[in-house]
Amino acid sequence: MSRFVIGAAILLAVVSRFLTIYIRLRELLPSFVSGVPRKGSGGYTAPTADESALMAGAFSYMLEGTLDSTQRAALASKNYYLRTYHDRDSDQETNILMERQHGRKSDGWVKGIRWDHAWGLYILSPNSPSGIIVEIPHPVYDTEAELLGVEGFLHGHAKCLFVAGAHRYANVTVGDADETGIQIERDGKWSDPQIAADVAHFGFETEDTASVFQAIHIAAILGLRAAGRVPTVVQFHSFDSANHSLCSVASAPSGKAVVVSSGSAMPTPLSTRVAERLRAGSIPVYEFGGIDGTACDLGGTHNLQHSYMRRIGAADQFLHIEVGSDVRIDPLIGMQRVARTVMDAINRVTVIGGPPLSI
Ligand SMILES: [Zn+2]
Repeated sequence: MSRFVIGAAILLAVVSRFLTIYIRLRELLPSFVSGVPRKGSGGYTAPTADESALMAGAFSYMLEGTLDSTQRAALASKNYYLRTYHDRDSDQETNILMERQHGRKSDGWVKGIRWDHAWGLYILSPNSPSGIIVEIPHPVYDTEAELLGVEGFLHGHAKCLFVAGAHRYANVTVGDADETGIQIERDGKWSDPQIAADVAHFGFETEDTASVFQAIHIAAILGLRAAGRVPTVVQFHSFDSANHSLCSVASAPSGKAVVVSSGSAMPTPLSTRVAERLRAGSIPVYEFGGIDGTACDLGGTHNLQHSYMRRIGAADQFLHIEVGSDVRIDPLIGMQRVARTVMDAINRVTVIGGPPLSI
């Protein structure tokens, strides 16, 4: 190799290092969620079918690493753009599909923030060989669920991390938005536009473009399958323990628990493995459809992401995790340990010197 080539290679390495933008996903995620439209704000704009298809198409190219200037321009027409950052904590490259926001943000939610669409944040780890997709469909409503998501994504070396772009009841305008939204869902009115921002529930089961979140969920699964991977989706939700007394377990001192579900009343080998792993780590578990029954109302049995996977014969690779507030604030358990334990179970990581596993 000539001196010139070596010199050029060194120069290129120095320049690319200089151009690398470092971030911390552990800071980006809470910052993003702090700015998403709140309940009753009317700040979410449901996509047209064409818009969902455009976003899903762009994500497919992202996954293949072939997003070109034409697709970037299409994204820009929707005020979305793709950035490549280097995450400091995991020392990995991440591609982030995000929407340009209007208005200024201080350190919390301020009224000045506005999004044209609020369709969400889509993160891809281009070098990860994993097929795992971590999803947070209910930011803000599910308190701190994004922290579970980012821990799960980083610790589990997942391929994707998706966060919806608005409070699930952002477009509910009647009365108390939470109460009205819950009632709409209880009544089974899944196509009521007031719950359009609830990406896990809004729309009919076969309507793949009802949200950008659902369209990209599908694009990611198909893309990973095409690449020879087994797509596995883990959704992290959180709930207020006081409001869901039927989701507690007698074996835990205060009844607090993590609800593990396959998205149906039938446990899967994956959901069973995760529940066993959490129990082995002394984390109280309500195993929906398994040994704890189905009385708990947080089994995620009307979840559109799960419905799609069932349709394509991949239901066994869907996991619905609900973390109760009592568990979240327990200093001996906490968000990080729950997220990490779940991911270790998915990845079948053996903890040396850890508690014995029954799998
Ligand atoms: Zn939720």
